[in-house]
Amino acid sequence: MILAVVMAFVSGVSRGVAQQADLDPRIETLVGAVSPDRLAAILKKLESFGTRNTLSSTDSPTYGIGAARQWILDEMKGYSPKLQVSFDTYKIAKQGRITRDVEVRNVMAMLPGRSARRVYVSGHYDTVAIDGGQSSNNAAAGTGTAARLAQPADPEAPNDTSAPGVNDDGSGTALTMELARIFSRSGIDFDATLVFMCHVAEEQGLFGAFLHAQKAAAEHIRIDAVFNNDIVGNDRGGNGIVDGATIRVYSQGPEDSPSREIARFVQRWGARYVPSHGVRLMARPDRFNRGGDHTAYNQLGFPAVGFRESRENFTRQHDVRDTFDGISIPYLTQNARVNVAAAATIALAPIAPVVTTAAGGPMISRAPTGYDANLKWRPSPGAIAYRIFWRDAWGPDWQHDLLVGNVAGVVLPGLQIDDYVFGVAAVDAAGHESVVAPYVSLQRAPVTARTIR
Ligand SMILES: [Zn+2]
Repeated sequence: MILAVVMAFVSGVSRGVAQQADLDPRIETLVGAVSPDRLAAILKKLESFGTRNTLSSTDSPTYGIGAARQWILDEMKGYSPKLQVSFDTYKIAKQGRITRDVEVRNVMAMLPGRSARRVYVSGHYDTVAIDGGQSSNNAAAGTGTAARLAQPADPEAPNDTSAPGVNDDGSGTALTMELARIFSRSGIDFDATLVFMCHVAEEQGLFGAFLHAQKAAAEHIRIDAVFNNDIVGNDRGGNGIVDGATIRVYSQGPEDSPSREIARFVQRWGARYVPSHGVRLMARPDRFNRGGDHTAYNQLGFPAVGFRESRENFTRQHDVRDTFDGISIPYLTQNARVNVAAAATIALAPIAPVVTTAAGGPMISRAPTGYDANLKWRPSPGAIAYRIFWRDAWGPDWQHDLLVGNVAGVVLPGLQIDDYVFGVAAVDAAGHESVVAPYVSLQRAPVTARTIR
């Protein structure tokens, strides 16, 4: 009803551009290119290293984190000459759960795009096993922090106790590597530069992700999205509930934060290209009192979300029982496909429109009548149309959308900007749609009052 009224009044509504049912056949092909056999082979290989603990051996060719990171590097180098594969190395001093000074290496594969803006797909390849695993931790503490780590008697010695970590986070690592393979071989000319990142030292406090994000921030690198996949390979909850048809996506608020817009984008485009798999959005940074690498990126100001399997089996996390037989390859494959759909779309789409003034104010008003929604934006290069989104101010999901032409503003008569949240996305000639840029009210300065005695 409201939409009909708006349609009648809006000028510049575009009829010529791709309608929302249109999908890019190249992305459909890419979604279909995820190989279950490849995912399984990567997981078995990762398991074969025995442990990938950040503090484990680096001098064995077959056992420990040194062998594992070298294999991941070599494997990704073999995928395509277009992929720039390197170690991203740091020296971490002894602190907290890092029990001795240690050199750590993220393994990074970059697929350069037409522009320098980046989209990350990631997991962490390091592992940990604690006494009793995550389940005893949950049972004892209720929420699962402050685990006892099995340590060698000599703190300077490698920690080589078994920690297979096939799900945590071999699953996210395998997904990341498989996407590196299919994206780099796709022949698609992406606008964004894609980074396939296998992080290290997650289990000691998100160190690998944090140090990389810190470097990216210092170098003023534009990162449009980080997809962090961590524990995405098991569809059987430890309580017996099975769900192989959905994935959870966690994002840091508030409700129209950049990370929340990424989460909505993943749900929208996952549903288009992988309708058989549901994306369950979670309005919190991560699972209760638990964390992951996307949080490190959030802390440095980058939009980032966490993918998590829908039903966890805690008896197989941070435990010697986190082995290949706890993995559902069809489920991991579906989760990989959702990542493909969202990452490819965001990397092909124009950048999101800028909806704020140089001073930071939202370019929205009640003009001309004082009771209208008057939206303006700065055009995105490559866009030929824009899609306006809005929803009730009390509600998380976009409820209405409207495609308009290649304009830099629109008036939606009679829609009170006090009652709805608005946003706008840029659309290119092939129908690729950017992340939604929301109009967010400015924070009001705290009230101050000088009084006279
Ligand atoms: Zn993990």
